[in-house]
Amino acid sequence: MEYFNTVLGRQSIDKLGKTLPHEHICCYYEPFYNIADNEHMDKAEVVRLSAAYLKHLKETYGLTTFVDGTPINTGRDLNLLREISRLSGVNIVASSGLYYQYEPMLNLKSEQYLCDMIVRDCEQSCIGMLKLGLDSQKPDSYIQKVFKAVCMAQKKLNIPIYIHTNAFIQNGIAAADFVLECGVAPSAVTIGHCSDSDDNEYIYEILKKGCYIGYDRLYPQGGETFLPRKAAQLAELCKMGYGNKVLISQDTLVYNEYCPVSYIQQTNPYEHLFTNVIPCMENTGITKQQLHQIMVENTANMFMMI
Ligand SMILES: [Zn+2]
Repeated sequence: MEYFNTVLGRQSIDKLGKTLPHEHICCYYEPFYNIADNEHMDKAEVVRLSAAYLKHLKETYGLTTFVDGTPINTGRDLNLLREISRLSGVNIVASSGLYYQYEPMLNLKSEQYLCDMIVRDCEQSCIGMLKLGLDSQKPDSYIQKVFKAVCMAQKKLNIPIYIHTNAFIQNGIAAADFVLECGVAPSAVTIGHCSDSDDNEYIYEILKKGCYIGYDRLYPQGGETFLPRKAAQLAELCKMGYGNKVLISQDTLVYNEYCPVSYIQQTNPYEHLFTNVIPCMENTGITKQQLHQIMVENTANMFMMI
């Protein structure tokens, strides 16, 4: 596939450029928006700030594409993403599919129904990414149904799948095995949040299957030793020949409700990667050429599923 889907339409792959492969603009849980006294997200403010943040990254660091990993049931808002893309001039790729929380309404539906719903969603809105989530050791019957439906949709749509996994319980292997057994090609799969693990053997086991890994929890909150440790680990992965399967990002957002107190980020949350993470990686011996491979070539290959 020589193209990728953005919220403003299909683009040829040479327009992808420097990409943040797993971030969010906002995450919230829509059903609670009907509660009268809920503190609602100020959408106009989220649009204004997000567009300014992305425009700054484009002008200062050459960012061209932002992949929003928010699926249908965690507050995805396509109109909001379209407006931010128009204002910032940055390509935004939106996600379909489902996060891992149990949805009784969906559990009543068949796999085929869920698959058709996701295919329609993607085709009607030029969605570029499918999202799944596994946060327990193994998929239970509900998660299995969602996984099977998204895998069926993937084969019809021919777009990649990103899977939220929990590296602390090392369930990325079970998640990868499940989708591969459903017949999805390994090169169409990214196992997310692998940077949460310090266990290289766990990460190698996923990489050996041919999947991409999301090295995408490079948060600012990790403390003084966190980034040097992660940079050294990434250097080791590159040394072992896996530099072509790593995707770096921060998994951060502008509006967050998945935390004790909801907030709008008043400073650019996405800039940390450019001002702190990348310099730390360069100090650890990762070359500019390797960083270009990771941020430009790997992201393009991930979308082309090669
Ligand atoms: Zn995420």
